[in-house]
Amino acid sequence: MTQRTRGELKYEGKAKRVYATDHEHEYIVAYKDDATAFNGVKKAQIGGKGAINNAITAHLFPQLEQAGVPTHFLEKLSDTEQRVRAVTIIPVEVIVRNVAAGSFSKRLGIEEGTPLSRPVVEYCYKSDALGDPLINTDTAVALGWATPAQLTRIRELALQVQAFLVPYFAARGVRLIDFKLEFGTTADGEVVLADEISPDTCRFWDAQTSEKLDKDRFRRDLGGVEDAYSEMLRRVTQDVEESKSREVE
Ligand code: UDP
Repeated sequence: MTQRTRGELKYEGKAKRVYATDHEHEYIVAYKDDATAFNGVKKAQIGGKGAINNAITAHLFPQLEQAGVPTHFLEKLSDTEQRVRAVTIIPVEVIVRNVAAGSFSKRLGIEEGTPLSRPVVEYCYKSDALGDPLINTDTAVALGWATPAQLTRIRELALQVQAFLVPYFAARGVRLIDFKLEFGTTADGEVVLADEISPDTCRFWDAQTSEKLDKDRFRRDLGGVEDAYSEMLRRVTQDVEESKSREVE
């Protein structure tokens, strides 16, 4: 493990802090237990969330790299910390949807749980003050947030992530309904996947029971939030071959 000294706090978000390090091109990301919903109106602590989201992201990002998606992830340093490549976050949140839910269902009057005939990629402006409004790629270019080439690459990478994650979760008894990604640019201009992939940023439904195993348990006061996050960590890190052979027994 390459330990780095935490330097200046570069950024504090709702769920993570990002620190500079003694290495110019590396940051440390520290995951928090804080949870917020509805644009910060609803706030709470979810015990163990920081460690779980750190562990899930640290498990998935190297596999995404292997599948051809460059990421900012370098290594897990501790329960709640990871070492990452320093990137400048592109202020565009990228949502990929496989099944209608959440704001998509509300906006379009489509019942939650309706499968989509092809993945839908949506873009939002990353702004807490404005509530992450939906935008299109023209807006992002016109306002200088990303170039057309970067947006083409982002869409391609987002669909690659979706193509990896859908069967990955299906093999673990989970329907991936939708998820949010963030991308950043490195010092040499490469677009890489940043942020996290966790129950905070994805909708996960149990394939058998449709039970929600994600942040909607917190948003919608369904209870069992900690248990759902723990269950997702268990499934993500589960050895699928082993469990398949157990089912056969
Ligand atoms: N999402 C997120 N951060 C946001 C907004 C959405 O991680 O600021 C995730 C959310 O968990 C879900 C997906 O993106 O997996 C789509 O969210 P949606 O637009 O339906 O918003 P919501 O219903 O959560 O307001």
